[in-house]
Amino acid sequence: MESEKEIIKKLLKPLKIERNLGYTNSAVLGGFASYILNWLGSLAELTTKEQLLELIAELEQLFSDYAQVAPAQRKEKLQESRELFSRLKEVAVEEVQSPAEAAAVQESGPEYQTAVQTEVKEEEFPQFWRQSIRYIKGVGKKRAAKLSRLGIETVWDALFYFPRDYRDWSQTAQIKDLKVGSKVTVRGQVLGTEELRPRQGLTIIKVIIGDGTGKLAGVWFNQPYLKKNFKRGAQVAFSGEIQRKYGELQINNPNYELFKSKDDIYVGRILPVYAATEGISQNFLRKLIKRLLKEELAKLPEFLPLELRSKHRLWGIKEALEQIHFPESREELEQARRRLVFDELLILQLGVLLKKSDLGEVESGVLHQEKQQLAAQYRQQLPFELTKAQLKVWEEIKEDMESAQVMNRLIQGDVGSGKTVVATLALLKAVGSGYQGAMMAPTEILAEQHYLGLEDSLADYDLELGLLVGSLRSSAKEELLTEIAQGEIDIVIGTHALIQEGIEFQKLGLVITDEQHRFGVKQRAVLKEKGANPDVLVMTATPIPRTLALTLYGDLDLSVIDELPPGRKPVVTEWRSEAAYPKIYSFMRQQIEAGRQAYVVCPLVEESEELDITSAVELANQLNEEVFPQLTIGLLHGQLKAEQKEMIMEKFRCGEIDILVSTTVIEVGVNVPNATLMLIVDAQRFGLAQLHQLRGRVGRGEHQSYCVLVADPSTDSGRQRMRIMTRSNDGFEIAEEDLKLRGPGEFFGTRQHGLPDLKIANLLRDADTLELARKEALQMLESDNKLLAAEHQLLKRLIEIRFGGSIEMIEVS
Ligand code: ADP
Ligand code: MG
Repeated sequence: MESEKEIIKKLLKPLKIERNLGYTNSAVLGGFASYILNWLGSLAELTTKEQLLELIAELEQLFSDYAQVAPAQRKEKLQESRELFSRLKEVAVEEVQSPAEAAAVQESGPEYQTAVQTEVKEEEFPQFWRQSIRYIKGVGKKRAAKLSRLGIETVWDALFYFPRDYRDWSQTAQIKDLKVGSKVTVRGQVLGTEELRPRQGLTIIKVIIGDGTGKLAGVWFNQPYLKKNFKRGAQVAFSGEIQRKYGELQINNPNYELFKSKDDIYVGRILPVYAATEGISQNFLRKLIKRLLKEELAKLPEFLPLELRSKHRLWGIKEALEQIHFPESREELEQARRRLVFDELLILQLGVLLKKSDLGEVESGVLHQEKQQLAAQYRQQLPFELTKAQLKVWEEIKEDMESAQVMNRLIQGDVGSGKTVVATLALLKAVGSGYQGAMMAPTEILAEQHYLGLEDSLADYDLELGLLVGSLRSSAKEELLTEIAQGEIDIVIGTHALIQEGIEFQKLGLVITDEQHRFGVKQRAVLKEKGANPDVLVMTATPIPRTLALTLYGDLDLSVIDELPPGRKPVVTEWRSEAAYPKIYSFMRQQIEAGRQAYVVCPLVEESEELDITSAVELANQLNEEVFPQLTIGLLHGQLKAEQKEMIMEKFRCGEIDILVSTTVIEVGVNVPNATLMLIVDAQRFGLAQLHQLRGRVGRGEHQSYCVLVADPSTDSGRQRMRIMTRSNDGFEIAEEDLKLRGPGEFFGTRQHGLPDLKIANLLRDADTLELARKEALQMLESDNKLLAAEHQLLKRLIEIRFGGSIEMIEVS
């Protein structure tokens, strides 16, 4: 029972130190008392011995308020604890001396394994996970091919092929006790089936079951093929919501399970539901995995260090896998899940952090040492003070830029929080240090906007700016490229063209990009080949909840501008139905008569850009001809040429255009402070993040601004989105809500942002575990930065497998 002894050693170790430190609760980093309580908890989990448990309980009580009380009382508590601790030690030692008891503890259920028991030696581990599924009994060549469609090639894959759901048949109700409206599981025998066709196009299947106390019908609509599954006399379970129709108890579209006989191994328990595929049935998967658990699982070595497991009371991997597939109860399932979620997130965080330290270590970057204090000068000349948040972020950037390590930093800030100002300071610092700076924007419009903005705000400085976009004429482009190569251009602003083209910099020191152009390992490699290894700033206007940022951008340092410049008036947001157009238009007229301008945004659905443009064109015409004949209406959409777009934006900027009708091309970054009204047509077709971005186009100046959402959503989530928008102006809050409504996959579009593919963890539900995993990953790497320690070997292998050897993820192609 080494680990019990180990834990007790850990408990005893800091006692003296705490005394010597004068009872300051500081003998251990993170608090002496919580350390003690933590290990007491671990010990309690581990032991079955009554006596020990009693002592632990007493000690727990003693230390429960240790952190809160005065040092004098702490002293008393500590003295009192000495007696208890020494008895604790005695009892535990006794236990070690009795082999029978030790064995009993060993077998005391899936709480923990106390030692790493493995039949496979660590060296054999790689072979184990490569063991093909094909040679497992009942599989064979054909099935193996089909299993590979599910991503199952090896025994390992199958063991880690987690159920996507469960059917809890462990608690069933008797039919005589059923109440209308309750959600239940009922088990019974098929008494008969009926097929009804009440009208054309509607087929109803009814399966009547009985359990000896009554009858219940399972009802399906337009799924006639189901009928053949339910043979008379078959054992079956239904679950769903009970309804009463025409005096009959029913469940519509029940979840169901067919059993072979009353004593089928699957009857009366929680059953896994796997994602199956053609030729691989649910029951085949269940049997296969059950067999693997029985015959192969024993070979699986534990890969999480014991200390880590005890600290967080995590189950052994074998128990976890057994219970994740065939849980004995919901509690067991929860524990199993906890362990496996932790594994997944720990491996993810380790991978991300290793990648990051890779970048930081191997590469020495640009040392920005200013010869000219351009940034400081710019700051002084700003018509406003930086906000506290901006200042903090600017300090972080300065420190990074001045160090020899490559900067890899994400600036996260809500729309209008003032990221551009900070970016400009960074560019000036690069130029002042004798380097060139580059800034990449997602669209030409935005690149131009940034270019014009910088030209304007840097007019007093003797700097050369260049704008590199795809639509540049080739002669102009060539000239620009030469100037960049010769170092005549100090700051280049552009679209993706900036890194795609055969562009050479004379002395590139800083690249600023937005999140859509994550500056990945590949791009960096390209630039490095050309002898540059610039500092990188990534800016994101998408407010990403912290949990997600940790995962998505774990390889970047994170700076958050979490404060808006003072005096901003929150945009007033209203949700109206289409019937309200007359009122909306008369409000728009008032705004424009008061000298303001307005945006009208029509949705863009990717499948049919043309159709959407047609609707934008029609709307612009209608406004121009019928609603506001005396006003100037502009139209902006993705199929216009770059010069046309720029001309229209310029007219809007200088106030020649009153109302700008547009598709979502204006979503990001456009800055026209005189515009105070944002009208969004068919707002239910936009995601929350997008609506927030669009709304961010107004409220940028001194005037009160408004956002009107015209929407008649037909779904609950659509209505909810509108309500969230009218309620909140906080991008982070909105992003959290969005995640809850849509889930992280959809939030970012499928994998577009390199969101990791998670098997079991849920970034929302498991946010706490994610933070924990990150903390543990950091600590692990602090003491063993390449995971070379013996106890980390298996984990390291898993990371290599997960990240394909080179530990490279979060890569946007
Ligand atoms: P973001 O890029 O984060 O959306 P911007 O940098 O475009 O925000 O800033 C939005 C507006 O706020 C700009 O007009 C900018 O001049 C102004 N601004 C930025 N920082 C401050 C500040 N500290 N105080 C007052 N106004 C500011
Ligand atoms: Mg901006």
